[in-house]
Amino acid sequence: MNARTLHADYLVIGGGAAAMAFTDALLSETDDRVVMVDRRHAPGGHWNDAYPFVHLHQPSRYYGVNSMPLGNEVLQTSGPEAGMYERASAAQICGYYQRVLSERFLPSDRVRYFPQCEYVGDGTFVSRLTGRRYDVEVRKKRVDATHLSPSIPVESGPRFEVDSGVSCIPLNDLARVTDSPDDGYVIIGGGKTAIDACLWLLDNGVDPAAICWIKPREAWLFNRTYFQPGELVGRFLLGLGLQMEAAANARTTDDLFRRLEDAAQLRRVDRGVWPTMHKAATISDRELEQLRRIDNVVRLGHVRRLERRRIVLDHGSIPTGPGRLHVYCTADGLRRRPPMPVFDEDRITLQTIRPGLIPFNAALIGFVEARGGESRDKNRLCPPNPLPDTAADWMRMTLVGMNAEHAWTAEPDIAEWLDRSRLNTSAGLRRRLDDPEVARARELFTANVRRGLERLAALARVASGGA
Ligand SMILES: Cc1cc2nc3c(=O)[nH]c(=O)nc-3n(C[C@H](O)[C@H](O)[C@H](O)COP(=O)(O)OP(=O)(O)OC[C@H]3O[C@@H](n4cnc5c(N)ncnc54)[C@H](O)[C@@H]3O)c2cc1C
Repeated sequence: MNARTLHADYLVIGGGAAAMAFTDALLSETDDRVVMVDRRHAPGGHWNDAYPFVHLHQPSRYYGVNSMPLGNEVLQTSGPEAGMYERASAAQICGYYQRVLSERFLPSDRVRYFPQCEYVGDGTFVSRLTGRRYDVEVRKKRVDATHLSPSIPVESGPRFEVDSGVSCIPLNDLARVTDSPDDGYVIIGGGKTAIDACLWLLDNGVDPAAICWIKPREAWLFNRTYFQPGELVGRFLLGLGLQMEAAANARTTDDLFRRLEDAAQLRRVDRGVWPTMHKAATISDRELEQLRRIDNVVRLGHVRRLERRRIVLDHGSIPTGPGRLHVYCTADGLRRRPPMPVFDEDRITLQTIRPGLIPFNAALIGFVEARGGESRDKNRLCPPNPLPDTAADWMRMTLVGMNAEHAWTAEPDIAEWLDRSRLNTSAGLRRRLDDPEVARARELFTANVRRGLERLAALARVASGGA
């Protein structure tokens, strides 16, 4: 079959949250044309294969693309998170990205979207359905929107050996269970997906005593109450102020985390275990209360092998049996890849700058690309800030993110973009400076930010083995 040649200003590889937010920014700020390629059948990336009961762990209000709201963007008036902004489910997110594609991208006649296509390098991709090859002549840049793509359990399989006949499922299949297991559930994993599995079981009436939770590591989690935008942006700024105050007064790294916990910025499920992990997930007080009902928590490291009668872990083994359903939640949700410059002469690699918040960062990179200039200056404004894994990463991530914010606010057009970007958690802050809550939060932040960043830099140096 003959190869087809396409022409585009940008070739965007991937059709997930990063690709969508970046392309949306190009559509808003330029007249450029884009070819977008994804091996999946629909836009939205990993959300298309997510477990059915997953929700964003942040408000929908600052997820998605800049030009289209996700959901109603209102404060919840009832339910366990009344007073916080709503959080979309996977189904809502996938529907949203379909709308962005069909109501904005395709009608613009500037985006050509190729689903079910594998990018094989050098501007070439191949349809997984027809085998047809496409060569793209790229006038400006190739955009790698796959660098941060998470690994998800349903695709990566368990990270341990499983003997034949043992019932072991990815958490996606938990929603398809038809017969309750006689001896309960074994949830394997310490991250956000394992938390979601435990919460889903508890919320659906499973007795906490019927859950055994194998937790290789304990995590520091962000307090969701503070990650609220819009009307509650004063609270978001207060959170930053409290973090800077904790940093400014911290004597050691442990002291820093103790202070962050006392200031209700970081949470842990088990108050008797000192966390070593941080993946920037958020949690609410109600969720913490629920999770603390599970007493049977196994802390013997990672699972190595699942046998019919025994689970072998790094530091020992525990009994199991055919009456138990083992659920693995062990993929590396936030995949850590080595950082690289975001901007090259002919390539852009979408990465995070402000911690987490993949859509925000991708949209910002799109805006910085559109305003032009030298790659060196664009890279100065967009320093890569790899996704966190350990508690110590919180310090590096906060430092790099805050210093980048400082550089952005010195550029009037970026500051203006930040103020109107719906993906920016602190958008609209400048219009609320008269609000007494905002004014108090600003005072606390301003009083501590300088000293806080200095202390963080010093503590981060010590943590990384420096003087
Ligand atoms: C369960 C879960 C919940 C999360 N919740 C949040 C949240 O609340 N807030 C938040 O900010 N982040 C959250 N995240 C982080 C999440 O990683 C991002 O929000 C975001 O969806 C990731 O988007 P992405 O575009 O980087 O990756 P993906 O969604 O993986 O998209 C990348 C796409 O590239 C395609 N691709 C890769 N290689 C090729 C190739 N060679 N050819 C063609 N196509 C290719 C893949 O098929 C994929 O569709 C969550 C992650 C998980 C796993």
